[in-house]
Amino acid sequence: MALKIFTLIFSCVSSLALPAQSSLNKDSLLAHVRELSSDQYEGRRTQEAGNLLAGEYICRRFDAFGLKQFGGSYIQPFRFYSRWNKQAYEGRNIIGYCRGTDHPEQYIVLSAHYDHEGVRNGEIYNGADDNASGVGALLEMARFLSRNPPRHSVIFAAFDAEEIGLRGADHFLEEPPVPLNQILLNINMDMISRNAGRELYAVGTGYNPFLRTPLENIKERYPITVSFGHEQPQPAHSDDWTMSSDHGKFHQKNIPFLYFGVEDHEDYHKPTDDYERIMPDFYAQAAEFILESLLDLDKHWERLTRR
Ligand SMILES: [Zn+2]
Repeated sequence: MALKIFTLIFSCVSSLALPAQSSLNKDSLLAHVRELSSDQYEGRRTQEAGNLLAGEYICRRFDAFGLKQFGGSYIQPFRFYSRWNKQAYEGRNIIGYCRGTDHPEQYIVLSAHYDHEGVRNGEIYNGADDNASGVGALLEMARFLSRNPPRHSVIFAAFDAEEIGLRGADHFLEEPPVPLNQILLNINMDMISRNAGRELYAVGTGYNPFLRTPLENIKERYPITVSFGHEQPQPAHSDDWTMSSDHGKFHQKNIPFLYFGVEDHEDYHKPTDDYERIMPDFYAQAAEFILESLLDLDKHWERLTRR
């Protein structure tokens, strides 16, 4: 308990500023979340009007940041049937990429789902943390990486229909825009903007331990707690998040993944998951940490994966 109190005090003191080399603009991150979780997007339920509006918002930003398209469009449409809902759907992934300087034929897929739960019983499920927060980070990272090209190409994937069973990611992997053996890594963000203990989980290093050391080193410089776990082969943890979001579909194709997200909170999948309840400092720090992790892995990938 004493240790926890000390950590809390330390976090409060040091939460005032991001590390000096901050690459992402906090106001822009927050503006995306405020916009996408506003009532006009009606909870972004797959194939409903608010979801289409969110897709258009993401397309406009991808275009403004100069991301390239596969097949002449950012929109990757797909159809599926949900046995759970007994309903046929049309979904739309929004996909763009920036070309790497040294290994353009090898790809890191950075992902965040943009759909959410829609409207139920007259209440809008705005999904600010789940997952406007991940999409905001995806967009600002697209802005940064298009101006500062990484060594490997990066695909920016705003997936649809995650909430109906990871269906957008499933489609992406069944009809990939590039051969699967050219995808090095998936970095998935889903719920990264709030946690009372300022704790962000990094899941996936248990399957691929070479991913852990870079994150261990980087996290020392951040005033948030980055924890590992919620995965096999450490079943001592209460629950396994391997299949909890879109990264699970990459894992099923034997593609290494890193999933970043927080523990469920009292507003998880409730109409109260609103913009006012996210934690701006924590969110900006988490996004910055994830970007720095991506940049470090991009820089050192060949050394890290050498056998
Ligand atoms: Zn989610």
